[in-house]
Amino acid sequence: MAEKINIFDKDKDGVGSGAADGSGFINESHEELVKHLEADGYLQTPAISQAFRKIDRKDFVAPELQDEAYLDSALPIGFGQTISQPLTVAFMLELLRPKPGERVLDVGAGSGWQAAILAELIGESGQVVAVERIKELAEKARENVAKYDFIDSGRVKVITGDGSKKIEGEPPFNKIVAAASGEEIPEAWKEELVVGGRIVAPVRQSIIVIDKIKPDQFETREYFGFSFVPLVKSKN
Ligand code: SAH
Repeated sequence: MAEKINIFDKDKDGVGSGAADGSGFINESHEELVKHLEADGYLQTPAISQAFRKIDRKDFVAPELQDEAYLDSALPIGFGQTISQPLTVAFMLELLRPKPGERVLDVGAGSGWQAAILAELIGESGQVVAVERIKELAEKARENVAKYDFIDSGRVKVITGDGSKKIEGEPPFNKIVAAASGEEIPEAWKEELVVGGRIVAPVRQSIIVIDKIKPDQFETREYFGFSFVPLVKSKN
């Protein structure tokens, strides 16, 4: 059984007063958005705050949505998908704690925003493998992430495909993070993870943290009360 944690319960490893539906505040700038995430306790680690500051969300949303780029809410990116809500990305990255030199699997690249923040965190000696099932979004993610010179340098590799299946030639990973929610954690992710590695992923409306203690031993925690687009599995 997973340990269950309500993130709005401050006494229990929880965070501040942010509304999970993104209705909390309107930000005029990227800096203001980051400051709000810090004040509400979603961003806690200096390195993660710094990476958030460096990667401007405006670079990942369409021209017609530029005015909304700094709202703490998910925004459409086409094909029925959304760029994730900032507080959710902050919360998941704080749980994931990516470190310089690590290899990270990012399932559901979408706009590429989270992949770029991850790239900043793992540094030159690390690598982010971002998988996106919708070809057009994978291309857009590549284009967006290239604004930060992470594509030509090879720091981020965007692959078109089903990230819930084993990815040929890329594992193992130190960390795995997913932006789309399934009914369970795919077995492939547990296999693709190194011992000592961590998965942070949504299952239904919760965020699940899984630590790989031994090849066949895992520890699970659950944080509930979030909203995600579905993880879609290919038929074959
Ligand atoms: N971090 C991204 C979130 C995009 S939303 C951002 O902030 O922009 C989640 C993405 O997961 C969608 O683009 C969706 O197409 C993708 N997705 C859903 N199921 C998938 C799967 N099985 N493999 C790869 N990508 C998947």
